[in-house]
Parts: sequence; structure tokens; C-alpha cells
Amino acid sequence: MNLLDVSDLSVEFSTSDGVIKAVNHLNLSIGHGDTLAIVGESGSGKSQSAFAMLGLLDENGHASGSVKFKGVEILNAPDATLNKIRAEGISMVFQDPMSSLNPYMKIADQMSEILTYHQGMSKGDALRECVRMLDAVKIPDASNRIGYYPHEFSGGMRQRVMIAMSLLCKPDLLIADEPTTALDVTVQAQIMSLFGELRREFNMALLLITHDLGIVAGSCEKMMVMYAGGVMEQGPVTELYEKPRHPYTIGLLNSIVRIDQANETLHTIPGSPPNMLSPPQGCPFHERCAFAIDACRQQLPPLIAESDSRSRACHVNPAEPI
Ligand code: SF4
Repeated sequence: MNLLDVSDLSVEFSTSDGVIKAVNHLNLSIGHGDTLAIVGESGSGKSQSAFAMLGLLDENGHASGSVKFKGVEILNAPDATLNKIRAEGISMVFQDPMSSLNPYMKIADQMSEILTYHQGMSKGDALRECVRMLDAVKIPDASNRIGYYPHEFSGGMRQRVMIAMSLLCKPDLLIADEPTTALDVTVQAQIMSLFGELRREFNMALLLITHDLGIVAGSCEKMMVMYAGGVMEQGPVTELYEKPRHPYTIGLLNSIVRIDQANETLHTIPGSPPNMLSPPQGCPFHERCAFAIDACRQQLPPLIAESDSRSRACHVNPAEPI
């Protein structure tokens, strides 16, 4: 049995301007210990997919479809069920640790209440476990610094604290939503390496959500590329990096700054993602795609399996990278 099975997940938001279709018919599975990256630009639906899975959508959001965790349906489940899943089964690390931590509470209190509330530990045992977890995420002098307030840590150290908090109840799946966006590249590399170490140590699955393809290689085995709420291409990371077959994946990969290539031109994908209040007919990428043909403007390409491990939603077959 898979750890997580998502079938036909769609997410909509009701706004005063109309209905925003943020995610359209998403399917994915994650097994024990698997690593999957969902990549795409802002507004592609990757974060809202994760929020919907965990019942964290804004009040005007509505999710339909199915999300099964260890075979049990959790989409739109009661708060008590979701609270238990979020504490012990699936943890999430967010982009901005400062907005996730309470600035008025010492780290010791914020961390230990997770264990006293969810696992019934005594305060003393909980504090000892919190120090052990801060050690695991390489916070120096953890037994002393657990008494600090969030503002007394650097951005990178705050993110380590958030990761330690997310691991306290030993989740089976960690969802990391843009976990390194606010950090400089050196700290980014340290945090991604830390995820790898912790994943092996705690035998967790990892769902990494990012717009930054630079951090996916080396962190995840599989990759799903999303655009305008749908999946454009998916498969093993090594294969998609070496032979991308969807124009959007090709564009994203060409946009990565490579230190081993002396390119003078910084490549970008022209244009902007569509307004999801009124998405274009046909392929949502057609206004930005150099390969677009007439059919692209009229018919939405279905996601079709091209091998046991890869699938793609595109009407054409780009022979050569752009
Ligand atoms: Fe480009 Fe057409 Fe493929 Fe969409 S379906 S990515 S517009 S070639």
C-alpha cells in the first residue's frame, strides 16, 4: 500500500471576480521513503495541492477528488482526524519560518507543547527530546539555545528549528514547501543536505515543492512539473534533466543559471502564467510556447504515459531542446 494516494484532486477558490481553478485533476502516489519534487512557477497549483491534502486551504477554497493516507480517506476529513494526521503522519515545513514561529514564545515552549499535547509526554521528557531534535538538525549549543526567542536566530537557523519541529512526532511524510527560498545559496545547500540526512535517519518520504530546479537534483528521485494547475510532465529526475520532452520543462531547465557554462545570455520563458480566473482554451502554455500548433489553441492535451516511468501532456514532440 502506498503512503499517499491522490486521485483526481481539484481545487477551486471562490472570489468576488469569479472562480479560480487552481488545481485540475491531479493524480500522484508516494510510497514509504519516496522522494518527489513538484516544480513550477508561482501560481502553478503546487502549494495549493499540498494545502488541500492537509485541509489547510483558505476559507474560500474547495477541494474535490480523493486523498488517501495509508489507505484512509483524509480529503475534507473532520478537524480531529486531520489534526492527528498533521501531527503524526504528515508534517509540513513552510517557506518563511518567521511567520510560522510565534515571536512571543521561546523555542522551548513552542517545540515542547507539540510533544506534551500530541504524545502526552511530561514537560521534562519533551524538552529533552526537543534538544535531541535540535542537535539532529545541527543547531549548535542546542541545550542553551532552546531557550531563545525566534528573532535571536538567523534565517537559516530558524528554518532548522522549523524542520526540527516538523520531525518531533516522527512523520512518515514530510512536505517541504519552498523550504529554502528565503535563504542564501550556501544555507540552501546546507538545508537540502540536511533533508537528505534526516530522511535517511528517520526513513521518511519527502514531497518537495519548489520553483527552483537547482535544488531538485540530488534531493529527489522523481519530479512532477506543474503549470496552470495541471501536470505537464513527470518522471525520474535524472531522465527529465537529461532528456526533457515537454516544452515547459525544457524552458524551465534552460532558465537555470549554470556555473559550469560560460553563457552570457540568461534564458527565460517569455510571457507570464495565465490568469486562472479565465484560463486560455486548449493547452494553458500555448501563449508562451515556441512549439505551439493550431491544435494547442483548441484542445487541452491529455497526460499520456510514454513509458513505465514517464508521462507528458503535449500535442507535439519537440525533437530538440529550445
Ligand atoms: Fe506547447 Fe502545444 Fe505542447 Fe502546449 S501542447 S506545450 S502549446 S506544443
